[in-house]
Amino acid sequence: MTRPCEICGKPIPAERLAALPQTRRCVKCAATVGTDLITARRTVGMDIETYKDLLSATRS
Ligand SMILES: [Zn+2]
Repeated sequence: MTRPCEICGKPIPAERLAALPQTRRCVKCAATVGTDLITARRTVGMDIETYKDLLSATRS
């Protein structure tokens, strides 16, 4: 249950995938290029302000 890193092509460790199921980059590439998780959130179309609004709306 592992897949290759989209940057370097090396397999992403299963532990990392367990912690971050959405990631497509290994630890090394996430550190150099940046994590892909923010990009993933943008494709969903939710920025951080919308997310905060949603959180406060759920709480009230
Ligand atoms: Zn990599």
